[in-house]
Amino acid sequence: MMSANVNDTLGRPLRDLRISLTDRCNFRCVYCMPEEIFHHDYQFLERNEFLSYEEIERLARIFVGHGVKKIRLTGGEPLLRRELEKLVEMLAGIPGLDLTLTTNGALLAPKAQVLRDAGLKRVTVSLDSLDNETFASMNGVNFPVEQVLEGIDAAAAAGLAPIKINMVVRRGLNEQNILPMAHYFHGTGHIVRFIEYMDVGSTNGWRLSDVVPASEIIKIINGEIPLEPIGPNYQGEVANRWRYQDGKGEIGVIGSVSRPFCGDCTRARLSADGFLYTCLFATKGYDVRRLLRSEASDEEVSGAVFSIWRARTDRYSEIRSSETTGLPKVEMSYIGG
Ligand code: SAM
Ligand code: SF4
Ligand code: SF4
Repeated sequence: MMSANVNDTLGRPLRDLRISLTDRCNFRCVYCMPEEIFHHDYQFLERNEFLSYEEIERLARIFVGHGVKKIRLTGGEPLLRRELEKLVEMLAGIPGLDLTLTTNGALLAPKAQVLRDAGLKRVTVSLDSLDNETFASMNGVNFPVEQVLEGIDAAAAAGLAPIKINMVVRRGLNEQNILPMAHYFHGTGHIVRFIEYMDVGSTNGWRLSDVVPASEIIKIINGEIPLEPIGPNYQGEVANRWRYQDGKGEIGVIGSVSRPFCGDCTRARLSADGFLYTCLFATKGYDVRRLLRSEASDEEVSGAVFSIWRARTDRYSEIRSSETTGLPKVEMSYIGG
């Protein structure tokens, strides 16, 4: 199999792969899958369109051959895929790979230990508020905070640490929950990452005025629990890291709107039906499933991945404008966050 690291046109290597396992979700977050659009008549992918676990493993090995060091399983909601632990076990068998998963936590409690045993290293759990009323208004399905917290506890008990908690902050919806969230996880070893609301997809009605900038988030937290900046763990880390001055942990802020980081972006994304996207805000993907299901050899699939990455020019967040926000971009629930 062709095995060579590859840089895109801007010199960015291919390092991370996010794999969406399904475009379906048991939540309807207002910023991701608003119920008005993603209702029961919405045309989700048919299950036979999904890549099989064998196809995913084959592709994962090909990507690792081109320099990928980290794979994140995501969705939609990845825990909706049956026997997910089987895929985890297959991917965990690939040497030198950092394997992680992003979930809304709803189904995590009963699965955490099984996933750990299968070889999962860490999890990121999304949680936008600790207040049930606000949480329900954001997740769209009235799901209780307590059940997500149980999932986080189960993941910690299973050793899926350090756990990252993703909180998307949207002006007027949950900015009042920034401080309670910081306080709750302060000293637990879990790392809350406050994420600026992004204009992904074209269904969430995004407006720039709904974004709470990372600098404002830091100011709010720093006013109560003093913070100091720390450097990235590795080049290209998307979160800006801050640690509590009392030594009781750290937080991250992801300012993809106010502080774009395209220059360091090393992430490719694979949709559940096997389309490869080189940017979260792309309008078009490359049909890799067609290749996988043809007679193509590993060498040929690998060559295609190589060429796609080498031709990459994406830097959407750096060139975002009133014109780009209205483009028919793929949905986050389809491409994987
Ligand atoms: N369902 C899983 C979850 O919610 O963790 C995994 C998929 S979700 C698309 C991945 C991440 O994307 C979540 O942390 C979610 O909060 C984030 N996300 C979704 N829509 C977003 C938006 N418009 N702006 C910023 N982050 C968003
Ligand atoms: Fe589902 Fe995650 Fe999107 Fe929320 S953010 S709707 S949990 S995919
Ligand atoms: Fe990467 Fe595209 Fe996001 Fe820029 S906008 S950081 S290129 S995914």
